Amino acid sequence: MMRKKTRGELIVLSGPSGVGKSTVISELLSSRRDIHFSVSFTTREPRVGEENGVNYNFVSREEFERMIRDGELLEYAEYVGNYYGTSLKIIEDYLQQGIDVLLDIEVQGAAKVREKCPEAVLIFIIPPSLEELSRRLRNRNTDSIDVIAQRLEKSRAECRESVKYDYLVVNDNVVSAAQEILAILEAERCRVKKRIHLADSIIGAQE
Ligand code: 5GP
Repeated sequence: MMRKKTRGELIVLSGPSGVGKSTVISELLSSRRDIHFSVSFTTREPRVGEENGVNYNFVSREEFERMIRDGELLEYAEYVGNYYGTSLKIIEDYLQQGIDVLLDIEVQGAAKVREKCPEAVLIFIIPPSLEELSRRLRNRNTDSIDVIAQRLEKSRAECRESVKYDYLVVNDNVVSAAQEILAILEAERCRVKKRIHLADSIIGAQE
């Protein structure tokens, strides 16, 4: 993994359920292998094909509530009846080593991250339309009709929160959505506040 001397960048990605975040993330990580994807903790049941420690760390409600009590989470939220949260220690270790960290979290969690880490980059992914989102959720075949309806309703509310983010990406096509995110990260890297040392070395140099 590539290491930098400066602190890593904290990147937050949110978007309604079924928008295709995981696919966009896989595409993004295939070209930016130096980014660490934060594996969240959740109390939800694993879906078919999901692996413990890879997609999520699957824990009991008791264990999750212990983590909340012991202050082990940077943020957490309850979403459609389950807890989801990010381990503070794990991501802090990576950031301190100069490794960029990517969080795939919902809007309440992202708001918490904004509060606690104002330097984080917040990106919101939206679907091309609500009809398309509904189609994708049904095609996923993983949730019951009731859960899909709940998730769709929640999606509309979530999209309203997108104004609080720094960037908006439409996932019409996975490759171009991932490319837009790469461009955002590249632009973030060029911010004056992150490169001021480069200008300083010229300003302060003797002729
Ligand atoms: P799913 O059950 O579809 O995997 O995830 C449901 C929602 O929980 C998604 O919007 C996902 O981004 C969010 N989520 C996943 N991990 C976390 C986390 O650690 N914290 C928060 N706040 N949300 C999370």
